[in-house]
Amino acid sequence: MAELPVLAPGATIGILGGGQLGRMLAQAATRLGLRAHVFAPEADSCAFEVADGRTIAAYEDKTALARFAAAVDCVTYEFENIPAAAARFIAARKPVLPDPKVLEATQDRLAEKKFVNRLGIGTAPFAEVNSEADLRAAIDKIGVPAVLKTRRLGYDGKGQAAIRAAGDATAAWPAVGARPSILEGFIDFAREISVVAARGAKGEFVAYEPIENDHRNHILHHSRVPAAISLALADEAIATAKKIADALGYVGVIAVEMFVTRDDRLLVNELAPRVHNSGHWTLDGASMSQFEQHLRAISGWPLAHPRRLGKVEMTNLIGDEVKSAPPPAPGVAVHLYGKREARPGRKMGHVTRLWPE
Ligand code: AMP
Repeated sequence: MAELPVLAPGATIGILGGGQLGRMLAQAATRLGLRAHVFAPEADSCAFEVADGRTIAAYEDKTALARFAAAVDCVTYEFENIPAAAARFIAARKPVLPDPKVLEATQDRLAEKKFVNRLGIGTAPFAEVNSEADLRAAIDKIGVPAVLKTRRLGYDGKGQAAIRAAGDATAAWPAVGARPSILEGFIDFAREISVVAARGAKGEFVAYEPIENDHRNHILHHSRVPAAISLALADEAIATAKKIADALGYVGVIAVEMFVTRDDRLLVNELAPRVHNSGHWTLDGASMSQFEQHLRAISGWPLAHPRRLGKVEMTNLIGDEVKSAPPPAPGVAVHLYGKREARPGRKMGHVTRLWPE
């Protein structure tokens, strides 16, 4: 990769995507003396409210993309389903970090799992499925229970169908839209963890401690740090994330979601090439947040070595839960994303609780 520029104070970061991650990145940019320009197709994107510049346009709108590229010094993204073509179009004009090739590697579950396995890192067993007949063959090979997942554009459990018995194939294939998919063996995990880490352009790598996560209806519900795992397993999880980030030539914050099996093996479930919901605790529970760390990495600034400030728990406020958010209190921080409509499954805010250790 060509030497990346070191951004000067006052530089403008372009952010593709206007959700809460973009919002928190833009807020962190302000704190670092950087400006943020958000590009998103939805006029009511919650990141717009806190950004210095905004572009409301489709990711396919080349005129808007070119104007956006001209207005910023460096571009990043806050969700991984940005069309890779848009990221490549901008990359021909301004640095895009992480590199658009990372988007291509992580937008397709099959490519992502093969990449992880090639590094010698375990995943759930999986098989490619392009038809109902493939699905039957995959069930024979992998067994049940299993999960059918579309290769692309699935998140928070969307585009997934549970397979409990071979006969479920008939209903599962149309349920995921008869789209190119993978069948994944169901892992009876002991716990789920994630590693949120930053890698700089020269290969510097700084990870937060592994985070323990609970999901409800496939959506992250609760995160805890420290995770209830041994120091050896925590080191292995961080080494796994580093191996992945190094292999991708990654610049920025990455999140690696993993299952911990009942016999203490780590299996990678998913890569998120961005700041991550399980890292929100770092806003209140660490000496530097994942958002600032990401901006430092993509700006070519030295990475921080954040310290954890105590025992931390983060709970998402999903849909109507936002109405029963606790009042702020010592050790309790409430973050609301300013979304006007509390649709079911929509991430509206989060609460962080911090205890001295
Ligand atoms: P994903 O959409 O792949 O990130 O999955 C969301 C959540 O569903 C995970 O964090 C797990 O809680 C659960 N899940 C997904 N895949 C599997 C699997 N193969 N085995 C067990 N649980 C899974």
